[in-house]
Amino acid sequence: MSHFICLLNLCILCTVHGRVWTTVEGSTQEGDLFEIDSDQIGLRIKGREYRFKIDRFVPSDKKFIQEWAKVPRCHRCSKQLGNGRIKEAGNYKFHEACFKCLVCDKVFQGGEKLKRDEWGGMVHAKHFHQAKMCDTCSRIISMNAMSPKQVFKDGRFACASCASDGVFESQRMEEVRKRVWPTLVALGISSPIGNVRIRLVGKDVIERQALKINARGNLRGLTLTTYKIVSDGKTVRTSFDHEIFILYGMPHIECASVLAHEYAHIWLNEKFIEDTPPVIEGFCNLISEATLVKEKGKLASIIRNNMKQSDNPVYGTGYRRMKQRLTVLGWPALLDEMKSKSKPPAFR
Ligand SMILES: [Zn+2]
Ligand SMILES: [Zn+2]
Ligand SMILES: [Zn+2]
Ligand SMILES: [Zn+2]
Repeated sequence: MSHFICLLNLCILCTVHGRVWTTVEGSTQEGDLFEIDSDQIGLRIKGREYRFKIDRFVPSDKKFIQEWAKVPRCHRCSKQLGNGRIKEAGNYKFHEACFKCLVCDKVFQGGEKLKRDEWGGMVHAKHFHQAKMCDTCSRIISMNAMSPKQVFKDGRFACASCASDGVFESQRMEEVRKRVWPTLVALGISSPIGNVRIRLVGKDVIERQALKINARGNLRGLTLTTYKIVSDGKTVRTSFDHEIFILYGMPHIECASVLAHEYAHIWLNEKFIEDTPPVIEGFCNLISEATLVKEKGKLASIIRNNMKQSDNPVYGTGYRRMKQRLTVLGWPALLDEMKSKSKPPAFR
């Protein structure tokens, strides 16, 4: 009997202090596993949530992940489902005490009308209008557990998971930029000739800038290009200057997809490629999607699905049209077709 108590104590110690994780490069980090999402895991480190590729860890950690995955867990608190009463909703299981509304925090009794997000989060239907949704992944945010860093100054909200991976400063933006370029180069997109400035800004700034170019919709990024043509009578030289505005706080993956979209605009702008908004934005969304294809997590597939299913006549319809074109032509011919639409300004 005393043996069991001893084991139990050990177990509690384990969960309080977190497990030590070791990467293949040999660095260590203490953290609690709370989620496995395809080839990534979520670790809670000092109260913050982080995401890592499973590949990064040593075999003993991978084994731990495998074993962890085998145990049935509560969808809300990710702790093991014991012998107590369990509630089920769709594919998700919950401790009875964890089966509660994300707005009012009251346990569901059964028989109430509920509304659910794509991630298994639930609220009373009558509380849905009060629910705050993550601006990126549309997860309903737990009001009870919401921290100040999930509330952005410009009125957006982020779930704990997206906020923990949010790109807020230029240093992380630089990491995103480095991650995006190999994909763009592989597609045949050349790097800009002109100077590019990237600015992380709030929704208010993007909307103000959007007025300048008559852009509309739920914009996550925006590019303004200015050019100058200089001629000495014999040769004509064009110089470009680009300013990319990107919403701050988007998780790494989304930020990369938006940045790729904006670099596609720069590529088009430097070549003076013109067409209707659905063709232009559809093309930029194709480039954006290419950065998401490699990502296996659920967030990437949600962003892709939003793009595929969007009923926006420019971004959605345009994307589907260009996707068809890509299927017919392939990347090299599609880029050539775009280049053929180049209309450099007439110059005397
Ligand atoms: Zn639970
Ligand atoms: Zn409620
Ligand atoms: Zn989110
Ligand atoms: Zn665009």
